[in-house]
Amino acid sequence: MLDQFGRNIDYLRIAVTDRCNFRCRYCMPTAGIPLMERKEILHYGEIADLVKKVMIPLGITKVRLTGGEPLIRKDIVRLVERLSDIPDLSLTTNGSLLEELALPLKEAGLRRVNVSLDSLDQERFSSLTRGGELKKVLRGIEKALEAGLEPLKINVVLIPGVNEEEWKAFARLTLEKRVHVRFIEFMPLGDPKYYADRSFLPLSEIQGKMDKFFGLEEGAVSGNGPAKIFKIPGALGTIGFIDPMSHAFCASCNRLRLTADGKLKPCLMHPDEVDLKTPFREGASPSELQELVKRVLAKKPIGYPETVDQARSMSQIGG
Ligand code: SAM
Ligand code: SF4
Repeated sequence: MLDQFGRNIDYLRIAVTDRCNFRCRYCMPTAGIPLMERKEILHYGEIADLVKKVMIPLGITKVRLTGGEPLIRKDIVRLVERLSDIPDLSLTTNGSLLEELALPLKEAGLRRVNVSLDSLDQERFSSLTRGGELKKVLRGIEKALEAGLEPLKINVVLIPGVNEEEWKAFARLTLEKRVHVRFIEFMPLGDPKYYADRSFLPLSEIQGKMDKFFGLEEGAVSGNGPAKIFKIPGALGTIGFIDPMSHAFCASCNRLRLTADGKLKPCLMHPDEVDLKTPFREGASPSELQELVKRVLAKKPIGYPETVDQARSMSQIGG
């Protein structure tokens, strides 16, 4: 699917739920966010039909399940089974339930996972997530590696003044484990109270320090998207840097986002969205729905907006 700027849009991120068992400080306030009514959330059959009958024939080849926390949605393994013929089917998770679900997910047809993990220090992790248990997430990562959900990426949002000194510990993980750590610039999204007084930390600073300390060499990992990939010599895994604040990568953006309540969004930061669920529930045909998708595609911007869309939170859009 080519858009007006010649970008090949082949990647769909689906938020399967807006619910989460963590309350990461940058993502949600303690009380959480107002939840969607259950009847508004797409059923598994609806997601599978929208993906297979509408999106795949249009040229989507990669699908990522996200949320909210996708693993807390009941019977998520069943959805994975239904989507298992997609060659690049992946999932982004906070890792809290991976220990139990890694093997069933792999057996159901999931190819790989990204785990979001912002601290390797139990106290800081618990404070950042408001109650998460680090050891459980680390056990989940081990299970995912054992199950063959690879390449396994660990996404670390570096938050100024909070976890920026942990770059060394995360980099060291790649020495002994086949994990691909990707540092991500903190974005002014989510809970405004949290990001309002935080300055911006360019990842190039951390990359420079890391290079000096470890002597990075070029690396490679499949499905790296906008990340620049390096490797510590002799390491089992790689290190990537994703810097959406320093460099807008809109020119190479290949994604659309489907929210849990069935709205298709052309961009994380723009408010535009088109409702697919209502026409789908009213019996629209695949080709009528594809016309709506093309309408979304026509709205896909090529730059950041002046003000970021705050109508929906990261956990509703799918991060
Ligand atoms: N619950 C799952 C998880 O945490 O991986 C999936 C949904 S979460 C919204 C997706 C991603 O968005 C996570 O990796 C999270 O770190 C990231 N995220 C949320 N708020 C962010 C912010 N303000 N800046 C950068 N990344 C953010
Ligand atoms: Fe939940 Fe993911 Fe948001 Fe953390 S970042 S609160 S795990 S949705």
